[in-house]
Amino acid sequence: MPKITIDREKCKGCLLCISFCPKGAIVPDTKLNRKGIKPVRFKKDTACIACAMCAVICPDCCIEVFK
Ligand code: SF4
Ligand code: SF4
Repeated sequence: MPKITIDREKCKGCLLCISFCPKGAIVPDTKLNRKGIKPVRFKKDTACIACAMCAVICPDCCIEVFK
């Protein structure tokens, strides 16, 4: 099953990855990171297809995709 990792400390919470994910596999986290920003997290048990749109669109290279 594909999965992604998100560097929550690097994430600036712009939510671009959420807008571009075709499967709704990324959601806002409820906990703040050390910078006081609400990052995003991978939603488990979603139908991620490893399209890598999220990784490509993230301006800060916070996301890695594993097939
Ligand atoms: S790889 Fe594609 S489907 Fe998976 S979380 Fe990223 S944008 Fe969504
Ligand atoms: S696009 Fe990158 S910086 Fe923006 S919310 Fe997603 S992971 Fe965070």
